[in-house]
Amino acid sequence: MKHDISGKRVLITGAAGFLGSHLCDRFMAEGCYVVGMDNLITGSLSNIEHLFKEERFEFYHHDVSKFVFVPGELDYILHFASPASPIDYLKIPIQTLKVGSLGTHNLLGLARVKGARMLIASTSEVYGDPTVHPQNEDYWGNVNPIGPRGVYDEAKRFQEAITMAYHTFHGLETRIVRIFNTYGPRMRLNDGRALPAFMGQALRGEDITVFGDGSQTRSFCYVDDLIEGIYRLLLSDYALPVNIGNPDEITIGEFAEEIIKLTGTDQKIVYKPLPQDDPKQRQPDITRAKAILGWEPKVARAEGMRKTWEYFKTLPEWVITPREFNSK
Ligand code: UDP
Repeated sequence: MKHDISGKRVLITGAAGFLGSHLCDRFMAEGCYVVGMDNLITGSLSNIEHLFKEERFEFYHHDVSKFVFVPGELDYILHFASPASPIDYLKIPIQTLKVGSLGTHNLLGLARVKGARMLIASTSEVYGDPTVHPQNEDYWGNVNPIGPRGVYDEAKRFQEAITMAYHTFHGLETRIVRIFNTYGPRMRLNDGRALPAFMGQALRGEDITVFGDGSQTRSFCYVDDLIEGIYRLLLSDYALPVNIGNPDEITIGEFAEEIIKLTGTDQKIVYKPLPQDDPKQRQPDITRAKAILGWEPKVARAEGMRKTWEYFKTLPEWVITPREFNSK
């Protein structure tokens, strides 16, 4: 079903991040007025600088863990502000907890005042190291609250809980997307995630670091597919969580091999210790997204990885090799 949402005003938090910036582009393309918000601790203005000349775009440099004020009307709020990689959780654990909990509470309050529909970015991390495979939305998860990922996982679980509470208690229109591993242009080369880590290593001529024996699995979704799923969910009337991801599952060892082949690097794989609580397997069950949103991913991994590699290759040298560049 085609919706015309031109002229609607949308607040996107985490607007300068990987997913937030792609959402800004999508809602601009739909003719919306887009208010981007970001505190820029993990986001980068370079992801949205092309939007600053647009009249329908405005940007607030703000931390949503503090009271959020936006003048004027809002039709939709999409809460995508959060660190989202294990390296970030270790570096900024308290901010990670706050943006998912206090930040979500502030934005739910804002949504109520504005009469806006609120969509929150939840995650496959709510399933923890899953004992059910593939993961469907009825699975409650297997999370270690005090492990290194606990600050993210529990903030996101709290986020879902408070969002449902605002839905049932206040009658707020809410949507919950559970995002599985996603990749594409505008990922941070240094965010520690497998794909940018491997591609960054290929660019710098370093060995490819596979954690553990590489038998753990993930299922990678190209960003354009994810954005389409989120867009459809926002405009649906479905308030329960929906998994959005690509069920095409692969071991991390095979994934590293694919990247070695794609990039043509002659570096070898080196094995490093598996981080604590690293999930052994992950694959979304997308039956619900198919049934309710008529959505499924379209971009094959080979194509998505090629596009992502093209993007990383265009980055300036000081982004790819910061330390060596600075010491020149
Ligand atoms: N990983 C790896 N080498 C790296 C970075 C990550 O082998 O340099 C592994 C990591 O341990 C995990 C998988 O790749 O098993 C996916 O990691 P990512 O951080 O991309 O996502 P997440 O673990 O949050 O799903």
